[in-house]
Order: sequence, then structure tokens, then C-alpha cells
Amino acid sequence: MVSNVEIICVGNELLIGKTLNTNAHWLAKKVTTLGLAVKRITVVGDDVEEIAQAVREAIQRKPAFIITTGGLGPTFDDKTLEGVAEALGRRLERNEEALKMVEEKYKQYAAEGRIDRFEMTPHRVKMATLPEGSRPLRNPVGTAPGVITECEGVVLVMLPGVPQEMMAIFEESVEPLLRKAAGNLTFYEASVEVWGIPESTLAPLIDKAMRDNPYVYIKSHPKAAEGTPHIELHISTTSEKPGDARRRISKAVMQMSEMIQREGGRIRPRRV
Ligand code: ATP
Repeated sequence: MVSNVEIICVGNELLIGKTLNTNAHWLAKKVTTLGLAVKRITVVGDDVEEIAQAVREAIQRKPAFIITTGGLGPTFDDKTLEGVAEALGRRLERNEEALKMVEEKYKQYAAEGRIDRFEMTPHRVKMATLPEGSRPLRNPVGTAPGVITECEGVVLVMLPGVPQEMMAIFEESVEPLLRKAAGNLTFYEASVEVWGIPESTLAPLIDKAMRDNPYVYIKSHPKAAEGTPHIELHISTTSEKPGDARRRISKAVMQMSEMIQREGGRIRPRRV
């Protein structure tokens, strides 16, 4: 069975359109490629109650993993851990392992002359103050560690907002966990470009191909307005056996191609 994942992105900058939510895009692609299914992506502001509510709601849906991004830093508006603690009904406490990680970073910055001197200010200690029962995840490129904990069988992973930090912690500490949860399941996909028929003509052909190929998901993505028919057709499946997956995909692609050509459309494979 495919394991479900929910992503919660925290940040007022996402809600006011200042920052493009590339973290959600990157994580969704990663998680899907690893053979798990992203079921929901939520964006909330830097507000403890909003974060706590989003986390509580996600836990009720019982995904295998909840991944949050943003709000782990030293400033007053970094509230993700407070929100998670509130949702889980846990206290925030200083975590010695996290404190060591943060201290080492600032000692290194002082040695490199990037800061005047080493000092653990309250704002720096804040990054090592985690919900009870959590573990820090090493941040190879920045200061705030990621955080992992578990509640009611759901694994919660909190990652920073800065994309390079988020990606580095994910690849080092989270990806292996997701790989394990996925077992041998892998996601396979193919794309073809279609010209010459409108999406409304394509729709019944997709319905038929989906009926005839039960484990395959086919989705049309219009590249221009309905009057200028140029559509990307994305065909995907998740399977434990690469051979089966490839056979399923090529059978669906062949069937779609034949039906499209019969309707007077043209197709071309597209690199995904
Ligand atoms: P740090 O620990 O490095 O302070 P943080 O966890 O506190 O990071 P934020 O302060 O929420 O992260 O965001 C840091 C920067 O990362 C923001 O300036 C924003 O541009 C960028 N960022 C935050 N969330 C996202 C996102 N979902 N997609 C892309 N960029 C993001």
C-alpha cells in the first residue's frame, strides 16, 4: 500500500505572494518519485494557532509523514515548533543534542570570522528548543537543525524554510526514512504532447484508457487556451515491479496514441 504524506508550509511571505512556494513543489516531486503519495499541501502564516490547527487536522487524517517547512529560525516570527508543540500537547524544552549542533555552528562561524565572537544568545538557544520527545536533524548547510518526532503513529518532520537547507536536511535524514516506508514501490511516468484536438475531445479518450488500464493515472495539462489545442498528457503508475510498470505505461501510451490519431490529432513523446 502506498504511504501518504502531507506537506505544511509555514510563512506569511507565502500567503502575501512575496515568495513562490518552491519548497512544496520540490518536496512533492521528491516524495512522489520515492513512491509515496502527497495527499495535501497546506500553507499557513507565522501564527502559532494556525500552525497548530493545520498540524492537528493533518494528524487526524493519519498520513505516514507530515513534513513542514519554514519557521525554525531565531526570529520572533519563527513559530513552527511552538505550533507543533501546541498541536501535540507537549512542552517546548531545551534539547541538548540540538544545542550542541547550534553551538558548533556558531563556534565555526566565529573561527571563520563570520561573527565577532562565539556566544549563545537567547535567539540562538531558541533554535535548540524543541517539543518534548523530538530529535534534531543535522543541518549540513545552515544553523537551525531540522526536527523529527512521532505522534499517534504519524512521523512529523520539521524543516527550515531556506530552500538549500530544507533540501540538504531532507536528502541526508528524511529521504532514507521515506525510502524505507515506500518499500519497493516506485513511481513511473511518461509524457506525450498532443496537438490538433481540443481537451474536450481528449476527455472521453482518457476516460476509456483509464478504464482499460486500472493502475494507470492519466492527466491532461493544457498548454494553451482551448481554441489552440496543445496539451501535455501525463501518464503515471506506482508499482513494486519495474517491468510491470513499464508495460502498463507503454500499453496506455499506445492506446492513447491510437485513439488520438484516429481523432485527427498528432502526438510526440516528451521528456519528463
Ligand atoms: P532559517 O532557519 O534559515 O532562519 P526558517 O526556517 O526560519 O529558516 P523562514 O524564516 O520561514 O525559514 O524562511 C527563510 C527564507 O526561506 C525566507 O526568506 C523565504 O524566502 C524562504 N522560504 C521560506 N519558505 C519557503 C517556501 N515554502 N518556498 C520557497 N522559499 C521559502
